Amino acid sequence: MSRLALFGGTPTRTRPLLPWPIFDAREEKALLEVLRSGEWWCYSFGAGSGRADNREDLSRSKLVEFQKAFAEMQGAKYGIACANGTGALEIALKALGVGPGDEVIVPAYSFIATASAVLMVNAIPIFVDIDYNTFNIDPQRVEEAINSKTKAIMPVHFAGQAADMGALLEIAKRHNLAILEDAAHAHGATWNERGLGTIGELGTFSFQSSKNMTAGEGGLILANDQSLAALCESYIWGGREVGRPWYEHHRLGWNYRMTEFQGAILIQQLARLPEQNAKREHNAFYLTTHLSKIPGISVLTTPRFAKIHSHHIFIFRFQEREFGIPRKDFLRALEKEGIPCSFGYAHPLYNNPVFLNQNFYPKGCPFTCGHSERNLDYSSFADLCPNAERACREAVWLEHRHLLGEKSDMDAIVEAIGKIYECRQELVRTPV
Ligand SMILES: *Cc1c(COP(=O)(O)O)cnc(C)c1O
Repeated sequence: MSRLALFGGTPTRTRPLLPWPIFDAREEKALLEVLRSGEWWCYSFGAGSGRADNREDLSRSKLVEFQKAFAEMQGAKYGIACANGTGALEIALKALGVGPGDEVIVPAYSFIATASAVLMVNAIPIFVDIDYNTFNIDPQRVEEAINSKTKAIMPVHFAGQAADMGALLEIAKRHNLAILEDAAHAHGATWNERGLGTIGELGTFSFQSSKNMTAGEGGLILANDQSLAALCESYIWGGREVGRPWYEHHRLGWNYRMTEFQGAILIQQLARLPEQNAKREHNAFYLTTHLSKIPGISVLTTPRFAKIHSHHIFIFRFQEREFGIPRKDFLRALEKEGIPCSFGYAHPLYNNPVFLNQNFYPKGCPFTCGHSERNLDYSSFADLCPNAERACREAVWLEHRHLLGEKSDMDAIVEAIGKIYECRQELVRTPV
């Protein structure tokens, strides 16, 4: 009889996965208040950039209260809520003046929105490799990718750990480029003492259901420059201008607004964040310490500047040869031990069919519309991004909800992985 749950043994963990999202009577009360008030939507235009002309109406707005509180927590002057994190990136790029023919440097290892937002404003995403030890964009590779078309750098603070902003700020300054921080994983996290999303020209967040704070969906843009903040707000509000008539539209915008319901929930989620992040940090340290003792498990490194890490994902690298079994077998065995896990991204962003086939617009824009002097073959990025390729082959992701458990929950993870290592020969004999 095998000890592995995969072959009929007793699973290490039988309790259900920790819940996410976490909510209680506080969220219920906040939602009911909005429902019963009938104020499901607020004319909050201008409030995020400090220019609202209807201040008396705003005192009851949960959305306005939330965007202010979030900006304060992160340390930015202006916070502008919007529909989702993808939209936040599109708006931010547009506000930075990124458009047809421009190139934006993005990490090859990220969620699709990091690159699709660039194409949505008709600009061209240029993928660069990540650092193998942090899974964050490698400043050296950024520098090599810069040319006369480059307009902005978009670091992702992957899993909630600060990218090397010191090096990136220096590069951006030297080449006169904007920095847009994709901080979708980084609620409450910092680079040294500074809140992520407040260091570049603009920073964006997501409140989609998997993220460390959520209202199901939602997004937010942080800015320190008032005119940039105002421009973001205008794009979210269909191109309107503060102080001008309601049906007068000044630029091509979207409707990317957030509702009062989302604002009300997010105020409560924000109140929970510091304690939850402290718990994630504590448990991530515990896991890192114990898992690094197991052959074939290689934890990521945290540079000193990543002072507060929000641990949106707990990631380690699985080295098949040292552990002795393929990653896919390890993941199946771990899942059966009662520890849900995944391999994360199957391939770097450039290997998605949308890039390989340049399936962006019916007529092939932006490459065929005369702005680009490049003829990019996205499959060629594989040679330039060996670390992103390796990350996709080796990564194991555990959702942040695991890190909100108690010591016994962490011990179950360590024990399950240790057990699989000890029983690896069974998996070698009986491939799954
Ligand atoms: C989730 C995510 C986004 C976009 O967020 P949505 O709110 O889902 O649109 C952007 N970038 C990264 C890295 C993400 O993980």
